[in-house]
Amino acid sequence: MNYLISRRAAALSPSLTLAISAKAKQMKAEGHDVIGFGAGEPDFDTPQHIKDAATSALASGFTKYTPSSGTPELRQAVVEKFKRDQGLTFKPSQVIVSCGGKHSCCNVIMATCQEGDEVIIPSPYWLSYPEMVKLAGAKPVILPTSDKTEFKVTPEQLRAAITSRTRLFILNSPSNPTGSLYNRAEIKALGDVCVEKGVLIMSDEIYEKLVYDGAEHVSVATLSPAHLEHTIITNGLSKAYSMTGWRLGYLAAPEPIAKAIDAIQSHSTSNPTSFAQKGGVAALNGPQDHLKTWLAEYAKRRGYAHQRLNSVPGISCVNAKGAFYLFPNISKLGLKSTDFCAKLLEQQKVAAVPGIAFGADDYIRISYATSMTNIEKGLDRIEKFARTLA
Ligand SMILES: *Cc1c(COP(=O)(O)O)cnc(C)c1O
Repeated sequence: MNYLISRRAAALSPSLTLAISAKAKQMKAEGHDVIGFGAGEPDFDTPQHIKDAATSALASGFTKYTPSSGTPELRQAVVEKFKRDQGLTFKPSQVIVSCGGKHSCCNVIMATCQEGDEVIIPSPYWLSYPEMVKLAGAKPVILPTSDKTEFKVTPEQLRAAITSRTRLFILNSPSNPTGSLYNRAEIKALGDVCVEKGVLIMSDEIYEKLVYDGAEHVSVATLSPAHLEHTIITNGLSKAYSMTGWRLGYLAAPEPIAKAIDAIQSHSTSNPTSFAQKGGVAALNGPQDHLKTWLAEYAKRRGYAHQRLNSVPGISCVNAKGAFYLFPNISKLGLKSTDFCAKLLEQQKVAAVPGIAFGADDYIRISYATSMTNIEKGLDRIEKFARTLA
């Protein structure tokens, strides 16, 4: 049988981050002492009161379809979250709850992009963005950045990339994979270009709560009514509440876009899992004090890992201002990122993600969403490995 794969599906690259974690898991299962720096998820447990809300929803029989864009209760909780945290006013009809922040991003791109359209994506980028754009039939336009500018694009760069075909600019601050964070002036300058040129912004704010050193997360949507009109915010519960397996994300969009996404979702996934949504309500409406503890722990690990990485001859690393990743430059060690990570895993049993997965072959991604003990051990091994190359 000659199985025909659709042009759309055949054009996709499988997720390299998921592949690396799978390989590391397999080596662990075979008894190897693997240190995993590949994780794209918090190592903390979901707070108990969130689990309790889902458990009692399940016990009470809340196990049926809900409205496809989420329960009125959860959409209202999202509306209140935007008001409380960002001073933004949305109607419940502008909010769509989806099966993870990834799904929210995919919905936005599917609802706004098609053949002939261009989507501007700064690199290093979250690896799913260009694939989603291709899936929609549109063309990713990559704007390269480097550690010299803390991985930030300039308004001039953005302006020069905009054509009559540009539909969307994807902004992810704090960023996966670099942890870089745009300040208010930088966000405004980028937002101004988009407003002037009539380009929509997809602002992926999934790491909104994970910022360090007293830095401030600024959403482009908060800068003026014109900025708000040009912005679709995507967010979710995976990172701030450690709920990656629950698959809950949400977005807020101008009404016609929200309506289109509602239609897409109603014919594809339908609603996110009913009892998970009850947990989502508890997460957004309940106490937020777990975050303080997590942030203190992440900050400690980040400080240590950043200092250790910079002490390794041949490696340099700008400090991250948010998320839970560092993105060290390994180009002086003479290996490209895939080779570097393959040898590192093989020789030192350390799993990190090659930067090429994010469009930046001179770097690797280190996630510090793992214990301090693992970070210490892993960095000892990276240092040993680097000395064999230098
Ligand atoms: C983790 C992540 C998401 C969302 O993940 P979900 O588990 O689907 O909620 C979205 N964007 C970025 C950049 C991420 O790293």
